[in-house]
Amino acid sequence: MSSKTRTVDILKSCQILVIKIGTALVTQSDGSGVRQGWLDALAEDVKALRERGMQVVIVTSGAVALGRKALHIDMNTPPTAIPLEKKQAASAVGQYHLFHAYHQSFAHQGLELAQVLLTMSETENWRMHLNARATLGALMVQGIIPVINENDTISTGEIRFGDNDRLAARVAQMIDADAVLLLSTTDGLYTDHPGHNPDATHIPLVEKITTEHVKMAGDAVPGLSTGGMKSKVEAAQAATSTGIHLIIADGLEKHVLRDVFEEFKTRTTAFLAQKSTQTAKKRWMSAHLRPKGAYILDKGASKALKSGKSLLPVGVMALEGHFQRGDVIEIKHFNGDRLGMGLSAYSSDDAQKIIGKASDEIPSILGYAGRSELIHRNDMVLQD
Ligand code: GLU
Repeated sequence: MSSKTRTVDILKSCQILVIKIGTALVTQSDGSGVRQGWLDALAEDVKALRERGMQVVIVTSGAVALGRKALHIDMNTPPTAIPLEKKQAASAVGQYHLFHAYHQSFAHQGLELAQVLLTMSETENWRMHLNARATLGALMVQGIIPVINENDTISTGEIRFGDNDRLAARVAQMIDADAVLLLSTTDGLYTDHPGHNPDATHIPLVEKITTEHVKMAGDAVPGLSTGGMKSKVEAAQAATSTGIHLIIADGLEKHVLRDVFEEFKTRTTAFLAQKSTQTAKKRWMSAHLRPKGAYILDKGASKALKSGKSLLPVGVMALEGHFQRGDVIEIKHFNGDRLGMGLSAYSSDDAQKIIGKASDEIPSILGYAGRSELIHRNDMVLQD
């Protein structure tokens, strides 16, 4: 695509847009509550987008920040330093205030909302993923705007998204959105950290994410926010690889949506969607964040997979992790490189007994006639 591609063109051609709202936009930095005037302006802008025929889904942060006061968590403590159980309790208090504030602003525009709380373990399980997708679809068909947050109260450390940037990309992929707009306090990706390096320059367009871009994003996380640029680039990787554009814009001022759409605000970073011809199930698989384990392949099996074959037990040298039948796991070359992802037809316990063996031995080893392949080729997605 040409370098003339502009954020506004991407957004204007969108039918379904996921908008992620960062904590610093929706809450006061001193912990005194919601920025209700900002939310009122957002609701007005969302209404205008809907009048153009666009479907909007909101992913919002802010619950933990709004629950700090009740839990006596100092405003200077960064979110990553709050003990998990306190953070979970704070989010339970804050989520109520957060949704109430959205409801107030959106009801004023005659817009109906639904509160949806998701956890990573749900979106990474195909059946639950389909269920959540159906629920979101049913809401959207009725013109109800889903307002989504991570279910922080029950998400434990290992199975959390932890930041809503990646959750927004996951939701977008779940509902087949055209683009994700990440609104936070940064206007996009820079060649280096702009606060530390005065020569850092802004990058308006990323046609394909490279390791250089990942490096540029660094690790720094500002103030009350959770993700920083690192999680935004990770979200962009997940979104663009499944055919969804992702745009970063600074949303601190009121009416950011209007400003982006009317081109009053032009400083943004757009990450362009890569072509994706994958089925919904394969897209879901490739966007998986926490595979439960891995099959390690020998040379012959790696080659067979690349030529379109299924994965047979005989070509697997070892396995990692603990997984159930139907879980998404990694497929790795014996040197550790990831070849792709797939749905295992066997649990790790059973797979352990049959790897390295011919498929016709499976019934006698396991005592039942399972599938002859560990991962069927329709259930796998290989990396480019
Ligand atoms: N779920 C968290 C909250 O509502 C936010 C995570 C994030 O900042 O991305 O506070």
